[in-house]
Amino acid sequence: MSLRQNPLYVRYMNAFDESKGHTRTCEACQNEQACPDGTPIHERFARLQEAWNKHLTQQQRR
Ligand SMILES: [Zn+2]
Repeated sequence: MSLRQNPLYVRYMNAFDESKGHTRTCEACQNEQACPDGTPIHERFARLQEAWNKHLTQQQRR
């Protein structure tokens, strides 16, 4: 199964794009002072990044 077919990876990448896309247009988030709009977006990305990293670690152990 390729990466792009992995639903977790797809969600992770979508969250990454969303987070980066928001930061690009948001001065507060560029200064690492997440705004009310950006906070849930960045938190979702952080959660998915953690989940994805955990997934990779588990695969390496096999
Ligand atoms: Zn923002």
